[in-house]
Amino acid sequence: MRTPLHRLPPPPSALRGRVVLAAVAAGAFAAAATSQKGGEEVQLAHGAAAFTGQGGDTVSVPQILTVSRTTAAGPAEAAKLLRSQQLTTQREAQEAEKRRPRFVRPAAGEFTSGYGARWNAVHLGIDIAGPIGTPIYSVADGVVKEAGPASGFGYWVCVEHADGTITVYGHVDTYSVRAGQRVKAGEQIARMGNRGQSTGPHLHFEVWNPAGQKINPLPWLNERGVTV
Ligand SMILES: [Zn+2]
Repeated sequence: MRTPLHRLPPPPSALRGRVVLAAVAAGAFAAAATSQKGGEEVQLAHGAAAFTGQGGDTVSVPQILTVSRTTAAGPAEAAKLLRSQQLTTQREAQEAEKRRPRFVRPAAGEFTSGYGARWNAVHLGIDIAGPIGTPIYSVADGVVKEAGPASGFGYWVCVEHADGTITVYGHVDTYSVRAGQRVKAGEQIARMGNRGQSTGPHLHFEVWNPAGQKINPLPWLNERGVTV
């Protein structure tokens, strides 16, 4: 019969909780792998096991010794597993980044008007018609230059791209970006509308080259693998 004097004090309840967690998990290996602090927990479990084995009565000794043996190879294995998972996640993100399109069509819909002479004026963009609310996407990565009211367009969004090209999205019903915001190719920036000088819901899309000239968006898009 042991006397209380021969007992070391039982581990604090928080520590006991960790020992039990390690014991009930499918090995401390799994417990460690689920947490950045797994290594610490394994260490605690290991230390607590030896400690409990000297007289603690909170957890049965054989059970804890088993855990202790299991965890002996745990920290190194768990760290390896964690590192391997991190590398996989990183590689997958890099591959997704490589695969993602650099240029996209600005909106689904019907091509209704091209660039050039139209009636008695010159049309300096292209029109894509569709229902009000049709999503409008930035055609390439860039930074929003303008998003808000614009004469003739009702609302517009302008996005500046890395080479200085600016793309313009006019007559939008609503916009969901603000000036200064970074956007990616294919990121929704607005919805199709019928605001400003417009005769039906459509997107008016322009491309301004780095010199500031409004160029024909169709060949510009085609050269980048996008058809409208
Ligand atoms: Zn137009």
